[in-house]
Amino acid sequence: MINGFGLRTLAAIGIIVVASVAVFLIGDLQASLITLIGGIAAVLTAAGIGDGEDAASPAPAADPTPPPDHIPAVIDAIVEPILIVTSGQVSHANVAARTLLGQHIVGQDVRLAIRHPGAAERLMSPPREGAQPPVNLVGLGAREQRWEMRIGDAHDGAAGGRRIVHLVDQTGSYAAERMRVDFVANASHELRTPLASILGYIETLGEEAGDEKDLRERFLKIMFDEARRMQRLIEDLISLSRIEAEKYRLPDRAVDLAGLIDEVRGDILDAQGEDAVPILADLAADVPPVSGDSAQLSQVLYNLIGNAMKYGRKGAPVTIRLERLPTGMVRFAVSDEGDGIPAEHIPRLTERFYRVDTGRSRAAGGTGLGLSIVKHIVERHRGRLDIESIIGKGTTVAVMIPAHGSAVIKR
Ligand code: ADP
Repeated sequence: MINGFGLRTLAAIGIIVVASVAVFLIGDLQASLITLIGGIAAVLTAAGIGDGEDAASPAPAADPTPPPDHIPAVIDAIVEPILIVTSGQVSHANVAARTLLGQHIVGQDVRLAIRHPGAAERLMSPPREGAQPPVNLVGLGAREQRWEMRIGDAHDGAAGGRRIVHLVDQTGSYAAERMRVDFVANASHELRTPLASILGYIETLGEEAGDEKDLRERFLKIMFDEARRMQRLIEDLISLSRIEAEKYRLPDRAVDLAGLIDEVRGDILDAQGEDAVPILADLAADVPPVSGDSAQLSQVLYNLIGNAMKYGRKGAPVTIRLERLPTGMVRFAVSDEGDGIPAEHIPRLTERFYRVDTGRSRAAGGTGLGLSIVKHIVERHRGRLDIESIIGKGTTVAVMIPAHGSAVIKR
């Protein structure tokens, strides 16, 4: 375009000017003017229609344009599996898709590439406008893996249609949902058992046993113990949900662990009866305060010392150690001289309601939630929990928490 006119328009005007000059030279001025004005008007009118097209970019070709060269590199940068499907065949698959489905899938019919009965129908369905509901696929890749397949139609004119197939790994959220369902079922079961026992004893007391003093006292004692068990369980459940609700709020108060250990140790010793378990404390002098929540850290101490007393050897001491680590962390550990824990159980001890020996835990008044609470508190403190156990020798549960105001050196 030159000053708003296309080249063809200017050429046409030029020809008309030449034609009118020719008519003028023949001697007819009037005809020459009519030729000139009429011709230019006709050309300008035509230019209004035609020159716009002239100047615009060429009309899209009927043939499908292949996706631009940079697309494979772009989809490779996405960590989740992505496939570009052109006319029903996989034309591109990123690294994650090839790792999941096999290197051979490029060029394959997409129904063979994603070999799943739930996927085939949707992959072959006609293109639609807007978002489509995802399809859940179980067992693609590893047997327990769960994927959500999302399909988007590209509407880019490719012959046979072009689709972007995106696989979203849902294994983690399914596991979390499963855990939540199991947790509700376990918690209900744990509460129902003592409740059923209390109701049973109330019924018996209401009938014949209520008249016999000894029997009545024995039953009341059992009912009291069962009610206490329910109370402990409910307290632990409330604790867990509170700690989880605060999970992302980093505790930032300076807490003197040596002082806290002395306090908790003193309280537990005071509350013990005749066959008291000795609780020894070995606290280093140079330990800085930690960044923490003192109520939660004392809950950790109560739970760990409580476990060491429940599962330790009768009469043997429980030892609490406190030290500063060269990494900038502060470590405290509670050790007992009990039977120890078989290695295969250790990774599962922090799961809710996981017990090595259910009977022993219940008899000792355990809720099965203590170590789970400890784990959550330690995580909230950006700390670490280590459980070491030697069969026949004993168990040490250690907690590492960053010192207050320290930059922790990772080793
Ligand atoms: P519980 O209320 O049953 O003690 P926890 O969550 O505190 O629940 O601990 C889970 C399980 O870990 C316990 O049931 C017990 O089997 C085992 N356990 C915890 N601490 C010790 C320990 N110091 N020695 C041996 N076993 C332990």
